[in-house]
Amino acid sequence: MIKVKKVTLHLIEQNLLSPFVTGIGKVDRRESILVEVEEVDGVVGWGEVVAFSSPWYTEETIKTCWHMLEDYLVPNILKEEYDHPEQLRKSLQFVKRNHMAKASLDMAIWDIYSKKQGISLSKALGGTRDHIDSGVVVSIDSIDQVLHKMKEHVKSGYKRIKIKIKPGEDYDLLKQIRQEFPTLPLMVDANSAYTLKDFDKLQALDEFELMMIEQPLAEDDIFDHAKLQRELSTPICLDESITSAEDARKAIEMGSCRVINIKIGRVGGITEAIRIHDICQSHDIPVWCGGMLETGISRSHNIALASLPNFTMPGDISASSRYWTKDVIIPEVMVENGCIAVPDRPGIGFQVDREWIHQITKQKKVFRA
Ligand SMILES: [Mg+2]
Repeated sequence: MIKVKKVTLHLIEQNLLSPFVTGIGKVDRRESILVEVEEVDGVVGWGEVVAFSSPWYTEETIKTCWHMLEDYLVPNILKEEYDHPEQLRKSLQFVKRNHMAKASLDMAIWDIYSKKQGISLSKALGGTRDHIDSGVVVSIDSIDQVLHKMKEHVKSGYKRIKIKIKPGEDYDLLKQIRQEFPTLPLMVDANSAYTLKDFDKLQALDEFELMMIEQPLAEDDIFDHAKLQRELSTPICLDESITSAEDARKAIEMGSCRVINIKIGRVGGITEAIRIHDICQSHDIPVWCGGMLETGISRSHNIALASLPNFTMPGDISASSRYWTKDVIIPEVMVENGCIAVPDRPGIGFQVDREWIHQITKQKKVFRA
């Protein structure tokens, strides 16, 4: 049984090692809320709010998440008791959506649960792998810079490279990339930068034999994606459009995609992420774990999730050193030969570096039962 006695929100801010540019936004300073939950026996679990400071990816921001946590979600979990982390999802349903705020608590409760069981988070979730394949994302930049970064990542052994594209920075870029790397496992992410009017532009990308094109159309659409998928040979992967297991079921039934990117924050927690994983698995739709430029805390949850059997494609889970001069966990996440080891220590399997968190904290608030 889990009875929470204390929750601490740590709002931190760090510089990304290099600015990250997508079709619709740029991130260089990264705020995050680290969520520390302590239960009555003294076991501590950690989660992370992966929303950005501005609402370019989804409608949530660091500020909206702080508000939801402070005024609704944290007071609720301080009142409840849980036999199993799956009960959290239901107990937070009185708040509509606000998935990233909810997911931060869900992560912390799963961490506590697995620590109390004395097993790794991976094992608690039903993970079957002891290593996961690591992929990396290259943000929008000049063609020379993109090619330069790709060469470095290929040298470091990453198993798959993802390029961010937008109209006007797509076909020519990919043509040059394919000249340099004709057989590299390559995919693109459009972050909803296209509409059905760009149909010819998207169809032209079929010649590059991409693993998939991620979220070409609107973030709330599955209907037009189904139309588009019928005409493309490249598999469509949905990211923003899938916010729940129900969304996944509908998208699969409509034929809107052939791959799904699962992000714990976007879908409201690990419990929902597993439900999406299971639905996809039963329909032979492969999944992979997306990234949110997160710290090691969310990254450690991603690693555990990606150890589940239907995560058959390399995700966006990269080394800590891809983003940060110093991560908030010890040891930091390392990639060796394109793989990341899944920890077998209890819980998330990494130690949290409280000293470093203290140094980068902008705001902190403690809540007690
Ligand atoms: Mg994406």
